[in-house]
Amino acid sequence: MKRKKIKYDCLKCTGYCCSYDRIEVSEKDIKRLAKYFGMAEQDVKSRYTKTYKLKENNEITLEQILRHKKDHIFTSVCKFLDSDSRQCTIYEARPKVCRQYPNTTRCGYYEFLKFERKQQDDKSYYPTF
Ligand code: SF4
Ligand code: SF4
Repeated sequence: MKRKKIKYDCLKCTGYCCSYDRIEVSEKDIKRLAKYFGMAEQDVKSRYTKTYKLKENNEITLEQILRHKKDHIFTSVCKFLDSDSRQCTIYEARPKVCRQYPNTTRCGYYEFLKFERKQQDDKSYYPTF
């Protein structure tokens, strides 16, 4: 079967998807990160993640999400995003949701970035939020 061509380039992006408030990490992701850092799973959990209370239909579900840090483009981003290069510093060990995103051949933010860069005639331009 022919593979569909990917129409975005994360290497030219500022990492918008890494600015999402809720970037979920599963137990399997924690295990992978613990192995990557050579740390205990509990230490990875407390140092790099926090618990988020998801309220839906009068029910509360607890989920583990990645911690954030301040950012000059998006206010805050995942702790693991390099603020200057805008690349993931734990690429091989990143959580499953990061591997899957955007789950399609196009990325809406990248389309927007490409459009703005063309308008500004500046290949490195980025809007701030
Ligand atoms: S998936 Fe989209 S928003 Fe995320 S880094 Fe790649 S191009 Fe940027
Ligand atoms: S783990 Fe990496 S890819 Fe995932 S949100 Fe953080 S910086 Fe982005």
